[in-house]
Amino acid sequence: MKNDYEYREREQALDIEGQFRFGEGKISAYCSLFLGALSLLAVLAYLYPAYLTTIELRQAYDAAFLQQFLKYGMYFSLFFGVLSFVLNGHRRLGAVGIVLTLMAFALGGYSIPVGPVEPVRLSLGVDWLILAFLGSTLVFMTLEKCFPKYRNQVILRSEWGLDLLYFCFNHLAISAILIYANYHASHFDWALSASLQESLRSTPVLLQVAVIILCADFVLYWEHRLYHEVTPLWPIHAVHHSIEQLDWLAGSRGHFIQVFSERAMVMVPLYLLGADKTALDIYVAFAALQAILIHCNLGLSFGPLKYVLVTPQFHHWHHSSEKPAIDTNYSAHTVLFDRLFGTYHMPTKHWPADYGTTVRLPRSFIGQLLYPVTRWLKK
Ligand SMILES: [Zn+2]
Ligand SMILES: [Zn+2]
Repeated sequence: MKNDYEYREREQALDIEGQFRFGEGKISAYCSLFLGALSLLAVLAYLYPAYLTTIELRQAYDAAFLQQFLKYGMYFSLFFGVLSFVLNGHRRLGAVGIVLTLMAFALGGYSIPVGPVEPVRLSLGVDWLILAFLGSTLVFMTLEKCFPKYRNQVILRSEWGLDLLYFCFNHLAISAILIYANYHASHFDWALSASLQESLRSTPVLLQVAVIILCADFVLYWEHRLYHEVTPLWPIHAVHHSIEQLDWLAGSRGHFIQVFSERAMVMVPLYLLGADKTALDIYVAFAALQAILIHCNLGLSFGPLKYVLVTPQFHHWHHSSEKPAIDTNYSAHTVLFDRLFGTYHMPTKHWPADYGTTVRLPRSFIGQLLYPVTRWLKK
């Protein structure tokens, strides 16, 4: 009986080694390293925009204006690198940050002329990677620091490097993912209805957004449920569930088959509904932010919203390996379909004590990439 389950508090020891403390040089060294790496990537994207930036994103930002940010990023990387030497901590990382920034300067720095870009079909989303990383660290890491659920969990928790690798892969592959998703949706031409699209477009934008959210959620709910409940599919999705400490970066972990199939499936209702571009843009921003938010180490209760929308507590329960939570909370946007189809699990006073899968997965990127194959061969 679910009601008889005895919930426990999660035990999370303080990781003193992984902590960031002021005055030790570690914060400066990491800031220098990340700003240096992002600056170098940005300079490469300015040099080869056709191959290293995405058409969809290029239309949304002003590349010449962003060079001002690049300028500050490069100088701050140098400043933090030097500071790590002054504070005498993690100097090697600080030195790497300085070297990466100097390479960025040598390649042209922040004054590479910006001109029209000859579009190529398949490119790497370096611009998407940089902007998403900066935006996410700024917004979600600040939220996690202000309202943490697990105060003892550190930014550099175990396996953060692995999840950063997933983050990079998912963002760099954005063009390939979109090409595949659009190709997949084009198979549903037979279901297009001009009158349905017209009547949706005649409604207010916010109503259109609500319709998109519900239709996308329905598709995502069933796609997610199949990954859990169809035995041969589970090893693919298990990669996402192998995370044992959730935070803003953890949600990036996912087998590439799942990443591609999820976007391809959700593209079908978006394609068929044919809503206004504004409504679609609002949905895409909402979905992207919510996907990160629900994995965050965030103790906010969200008040009555938690009975309507998928929140961190709701999705943390989805990641729990505790019995009453297994195969529950599949929804991505609202809790509606879990309520309707009997998979809702939300003991509002409790959070999971255990996260992850009942059978532990390999802990490396390659091991997880091959995990579905090794499981299929074992059968
Ligand atoms: Zn799942
Ligand atoms: Zn998740």
